[in-house]
Parts: sequence; structure tokens; C-alpha cells
Amino acid sequence: MNQPRQPILLTPGPLTTSDRTREAMLRDWGSWDGDFNQITARIRRETLRIVHGEETHECVPLQGSGTFSVEAAIGTLVPRDGHVLVPNNGAYCQRIVKICRALGRRHASIDYPEDTQVKAADIDRALAADASITHVALVHCETGAGVLNPLHDIAMVVAKHGRSLIVDAMSSFGAIDIDARQTPFDAVVAASGKCLEGVPGMGFVIVRRSTLERCEGNSHSLAMDLYDQWVYMNRTMQWRFTPPTHVVAALDQAIAQYVDEGGLEARGARYARNCRALIDGMAKLGFRPFLDQSIQAPIIVTFHAPDDPAYDFKTFYQEVKKRGYILYPGKLTQIETFRVGCIGHFGEAGIPGAVAAIAETLQAMGISQVSPGALA
Ligand SMILES: *Cc1c(COP(=O)(O)O)cnc(C)c1O
Repeated sequence: MNQPRQPILLTPGPLTTSDRTREAMLRDWGSWDGDFNQITARIRRETLRIVHGEETHECVPLQGSGTFSVEAAIGTLVPRDGHVLVPNNGAYCQRIVKICRALGRRHASIDYPEDTQVKAADIDRALAADASITHVALVHCETGAGVLNPLHDIAMVVAKHGRSLIVDAMSSFGAIDIDARQTPFDAVVAASGKCLEGVPGMGFVIVRRSTLERCEGNSHSLAMDLYDQWVYMNRTMQWRFTPPTHVVAALDQAIAQYVDEGGLEARGARYARNCRALIDGMAKLGFRPFLDQSIQAPIIVTFHAPDDPAYDFKTFYQEVKKRGYILYPGKLTQIETFRVGCIGHFGEAGIPGAVAAIAETLQAMGISQVSPGALA
């Protein structure tokens, strides 16, 4: 096949996948087929292993993008008279608030600026003050700005108060350590098309078995009921409704490559190298990251947009794309930013190549002022 080189996606899902992962989608599977069911079983087993949850937890896969699984986790785990506390430092936390509202689950939030971490001490205080709170819904890596939240400390606080913790670990799962043996949680939600480097189309929820067993009838929804999906899958080995077969097959291959690479440690180290190279390379061009480095997750970096009248994101995006890289718009409400992802299957040359493409783009657009008071 003689195709032009595809651009490298520097976006936090969908992301750049390997040939081997994409080639896994070149055959069709029957959803009831025994070989396909083995693939589903393998994915469930392997994702549990990544968080060391084999003894205590169950993996329940679900069709759809990651948000579908977050919504399914809230709907299945939180009883209709439950009360969810949402520590909120960004766009994906706000999405959880919206989910609670849409599902009619009582909720409260603790709001933080987008450039700060959630604090365990605040959650400690909130849980002590309000015994009606049943669940805490935390975003591990807030992909909006790229902040890493202190999951372990928060999990210990939630456990101390005997409440239930649901973690949106969509953009951290597989790259940043989550260990069910040490960090107590009832649910961790992730998806195929992020740090495991599969294609988008399915999510999965790692749920504590003893919790899941008590979730029958909580869900407001038929298709989004993780309890039913789990019971059916255990009985039949099959998905309840048509599975995204090609996505499942691709994820299976992506996980095999993840294991070959060296698992979480190697994947996390590679992303950390990408993140370092990106911030250093961009600094040479005058770009400043939005976050303090102490709270930056090695997943996605938000940069201040150039402080120059010649800058607009659309042109900047198109010019960088012409040079082979896809960037991501900022997701902040107050100030103009753009984001660059550090995750995906691209070689060590990917980040330096992107920085070079951005340097050329600045020239092409006639941008000289990248940060206030600094000339590129
Ligand atoms: C990607 C992501 C999601 C899911 O978003 P979708 O648009 O449904 O794929 C949820 N939470 C976080 C933190 C994410 O990074």
C-alpha cells in the first residue's frame, strides 16, 4: 500500500497507534465466536493485572468512548439515593458533575483553579462534615490542563471515612501506577484509546467484586448497567450487546505490545521522556507550560499561546499539520492555550520532530513574540 505518511497525533486519544495494532482490525469476528470470547477474557485479565486487582476486583468492559464508562460507573455504583462529592479542578471533573446531574444523583463539588491539584485534606474535611456523602468521584489525571491529582492520599482519606471511591483514570491507566493492593478504590475507569495505545471505541471499569455484587438495580439504564454486563459476561463469555469487535481485537494486540515493551514502568518512562523533551524543546522556542512542573502529569502539556497578534490557533494548527503533526486546542476557559500530548506510538524522534515543526510554523506565521517580553 503506497500511502502518504499519516500525521502523528499528539492528542490524548485518539492517538497514534502501531501498524500491528491497526492490522489486528483487518479481520472480522463473530461476537459469539469462542476465539473472540477468549480475546475479551484476555483483555479483562490483563487490565486487572495492570492494577494488581486480580484478587479483589473485576474488569467490566463497555462499548463506547470513555465517557460512556464513566457514566456507567456512576450509574451502576451510586445508588439512586447516593451523594457524590466531586473534587473539581478541570473539564473532566466538570463532566462528572454533569453526569451526576443528568442521572439525577445528588452531588456536591469542591472547586479548584485549573492549575492546582485537588487536596486530600479538603476531602477529609468535607467527608467529616457531611455524613450523607456516599461516594467521591476523582479524576486521576485531569486531561483538561494536564494536572496529576494525588490519588493515593485521597484514596486513603476516602477509605478512612468508609466511603466509596470512583476514579476516572482514563488518561493515566497503564502509564501512572495504580495499585489496588495499596490504594483502596471501588472503581477505576479507563478506555482502549489512551495509554494502552489501542483505538477508541470501548472503555472498561475495574470494580471491587464485593461492591459490584451489591449493585443490582442501581442503574437507571439498560445498556449502561455494568452489573448486568458483568453477570451476563460471566455466564456466557459474551458481551450483552454487539461488541466493537475490531476495537477489542486491536486492544488485545495493543496490550500484547504493552507487555512486550515492559508494562507500566516502561510505558510511563517513555511518556516521561517525551514530556521532558517537549517542555525543554518548547522552552527553547520561548513557550511556557501552563502548569508548575511539580503537578504536571507526563500525559499532556498545556502551553500558553504565543503573545503575538500574528497568532491564531486555527492557522497554527494547519501549519503544524502540514508538517506532519496534529496538536490539540486548549481546554481552559480563561486564557488562550494549546495542548500537546506525550502519549501514543511514535518513536523517540516524534517530539523533536514536532518541536521543529512548531519552530518552522512560528517563522511561517511571522510570530516573533512567543511569551511576554521574550523574542523567539
Ligand atoms: C479522554 C478522557 C475521558 C473520556 O473522554 P471521551 O471523549 O469520552 O473519550 C474521560 N476522562 C478523562 C480524564 C479523559 O482524559
